[in-house]
Amino acid sequence: MSRYFCHEHPDVLILETRVEAARPGAVLLEQSPFHPGGGGQLADRGVLRWSGGEVRVTGIEAVGGLYWHRLAEPIEPAGVVETVVDSAFRSLMAQLHTDTHILNALVFQDFQGALVTGAQLNEDGTARMDFDLPEADNDRLRALEPAINDVIRQDLPLRDAYVSEAAALAERGLVRNRSVAPPPTSDGAIRVVEIVGLDRQACGGTHLSSTAGSRPVRILKIDNKGRHNRRIKIGLAGGIP
Ligand SMILES: [Zn+2]
Repeated sequence: MSRYFCHEHPDVLILETRVEAARPGAVLLEQSPFHPGGGGQLADRGVLRWSGGEVRVTGIEAVGGLYWHRLAEPIEPAGVVETVVDSAFRSLMAQLHTDTHILNALVFQDFQGALVTGAQLNEDGTARMDFDLPEADNDRLRALEPAINDVIRQDLPLRDAYVSEAAALAERGLVRNRSVAPPPTSDGAIRVVEIVGLDRQACGGTHLSSTAGSRPVRILKIDNKGRHNRRIKIGLAGGIP
């Protein structure tokens, strides 16, 4: 993972840049405001514009540390282009990602440091998180819904910082995923996302600047996935914006 432009400038969704390389239906850009996806988050989508044309960007393909922006047509744009991130989609991902941190924080606090075994954000306004929770009572998990919405209403600010890999591994609960630690950046640092007053965890995604930016959340479903795993599905009230 490199230090993404969207981490440093989360509010910049339109950026003029240059095509570095192209093949039919994909381009490498000198700089990009798109989040490439990963850790359960879907890649940003949007549009690429140039004098006389435009094409939809449908996803990002990461190959050997390079981020190929996939295009909706088999064309090879060149030169100066304007990149435009789909703001509604970014907002949906940021809301769901922030809400999964809140859910994760509450589960971690209420269930003795239970770790995450998987996560997926969906474009229909839902997300799922899997936790290693062999003993948990599903009714107690379902009862977290008002607590999640209470954190949203409190409008807690979010901020991020970079710490060394050693410091990240030494802080209990910072790396919340049971199986994989987030990859360090090219300079060995790990990005930490904090919901001030609630939670700190290593994460490379996009988030809100404060929790009240999320619509209220509902816990839609809790499934037992094997002996250890519980899958909690949440959804934003109102579904797709
Ligand atoms: Zn995150």
